[in-house]
Amino acid sequence: MIRVEQVEVVYPSGTRALAPVSLAFAPGAFTVLLGASGAGKSTLLRSLNGLVRPSAGRVVAADAGDIARPAALRAHRRRTGMIFQQHQLIGRVSVLGNVLTGRLGYHSALRSLWPLPQAEKLAALAAIERVGLIDYALRRADQLSGGQQQRVGIARALVQQPRLILADEPVASLDPATAERVLSLLAAICREDGLTAIVSLHQLDFARRFADRIVALAQGRVVFDGPPAALDAAA
Ligand code: ADP
Ligand code: ADP
Repeated sequence: MIRVEQVEVVYPSGTRALAPVSLAFAPGAFTVLLGASGAGKSTLLRSLNGLVRPSAGRVVAADAGDIARPAALRAHRRRTGMIFQQHQLIGRVSVLGNVLTGRLGYHSALRSLWPLPQAEKLAALAAIERVGLIDYALRRADQLSGGQQQRVGIARALVQQPRLILADEPVASLDPATAERVLSLLAAICREDGLTAIVSLHQLDFARRFADRIVALAQGRVVFDGPPAALDAAA
C-alpha cells in the first residue's frame, strides 16, 4: 500500500528526526506508531503524506509511485485521509461545512454551502451519521465537546473515501474514557471499510487493544515492529 525506503529526515535546525527508516504498510492493517514525545512519529506521518520531504530515501505509494513526483503526490493525497490531534476544524462553521471541506477543499466548501450538489451534501451527511453526530450536523463546530470534534475530524477524513488513514495523536487531547471511545470508533470504521490506518499514539494500553501491528519509535529509530503479542514476549 505504502512504504518508506531508507527515509531520513533532518530538519533545517539540524535535528535528525528520523534516522534512515524502512517500513512497508500492508493494505487493511491498523498500525499504531508508538513512542514518547519527540520520537519521530509526527515526522514519519507527515513524510507519508508529503508534508515533510525526506532528506534522503523515498516514500512510495503502491498505486501512485514515488510521492516526490507532484502527480503521484496528488493522486496519493486524494486517497489519503488525515486526522490531526487538534482536529483543525473551523470553529464558526457547521459540522456539515467542516466535513465538506474534506471533499471539496476549503474554498469551494466554505464559499457557500447550500448551492453545493446534493450528492456532496448526502455524502457528508452519511459520514456524519457514521460517527454518531447526525443530530449535530448543523451546529457550529466550536459548540461541540472535544470528543465530538474529533469525530467530526474522522468524518472529514472519511468523506473523501480514502484508502489510507493517517492520524497524528488523534486522541491525545481527550480524557481517557473519551479517547477510548473515539479510537474504538476509528478502528471499527477502518476495519469495516478495509482501510489501511497508521495512527500515532503514546499510550501503550491503547496500542495493545487496537493495533494489528505496533511500530515503536525512539529517537527516530524503529525499536520494535510486530503484533501486540510479540511486544509482551519481547518485554
Ligand atoms: P513525535 O511526533 O514523536 O513527538 P516529532 O516527529 O514531532 O516526534 O519530532 C521528532 C524530532 O524532530 C523532535 O526532536 C522534534 O523536536 C523535532 N522536530 C519536529 N518538527 C520539527 C521542525 N519543524 N523543525 C525542527 N525540528 C523539528
Ligand atoms: P465527549 O465525551 O467529549 O462529550 P463522546 O465521544 O463521548 O465525546 O460523545 C459525546 C456525545 O456524542 C455523546 O454523549 C452522545 O450524545 C453523542 N454520541 C456518542 N456516540 C454516539 C453514537 N454512537 N450515536 C449517536 N450519538 C453518539
